[in-house]
Amino acid sequence: MPTRPHILVTNDDGITSPGIQALAAALREVGRITVVAPDSNWSISGHQKTLRRFLRADPFPDFPVEGVTAYASSGAPADCVAISFQGLLRDKPDMVVSGINIGPNLGQDITYSGTVAAAFETAIFGYPAVAVSLNNRSPRAHFGDAATVGAQVAAQVWANGLPSHSLINVNVPDLPASEWQGIAVTRLGVREYTDELVVGEDPAGRPYYWINSVEPGGKTELENTDIWAVHRGYVSVTPIRLDMTDDVLLSRVQEWEL
Ligand code: MN
Repeated sequence: MPTRPHILVTNDDGITSPGIQALAAALREVGRITVVAPDSNWSISGHQKTLRRFLRADPFPDFPVEGVTAYASSGAPADCVAISFQGLLRDKPDMVVSGINIGPNLGQDITYSGTVAAAFETAIFGYPAVAVSLNNRSPRAHFGDAATVGAQVAAQVWANGLPSHSLINVNVPDLPASEWQGIAVTRLGVREYTDELVVGEDPAGRPYYWINSVEPGGKTELENTDIWAVHRGYVSVTPIRLDMTDDVLLSRVQEWEL
């Protein structure tokens, strides 16, 4: 294992997001950085993978962080990871860090998140991955402290390793580091979505349906969950695995008359 890893940095907000720029800059302390990120915003696209049309991945010399090689891709976040491991990059990355997402990825959010999907894709390839999200939905948020702690977690992942098919999901509270309560290792919490369906009619008289997204809440009282931690000013660090088998349900299903 090389002492300094080759780190692929990607995201779902797009290569021009201030979040990925801050993250790539901070990760230079940990390793050599290559950015392969989408050329547009793929937020809430989940684990989209593109198999039925071609993808671009052009050099992006305008990436504003010195010492970083960057490519902008027409693909989704998971595509950026896949093409990087499958030949875009002459030397394969040792690990992937995705983010910093503009907005949190807590509880069930991780199933919608393109940021976390990039980490899932990395885990499928058998490499360690970290996803980093900031609990602030403004692109004008301060990403510097989140980038520093993201790099700290990435260094620990590199030093300690991860089991194959696992990843680390980091959520940072919307506070300066001096006001953080600490870093909490957590489990996934429970989100509560209150989206509303807006029904309208297009100019031709045909109905349309618009899922109007409302800032989700969640069970903030469930101790040691990601939602509990971020709500209290902790940086949340959640180990996630791809094996979603429900072991409790498995033994119950075995009792069914199948
Ligand atoms: Mn996003």
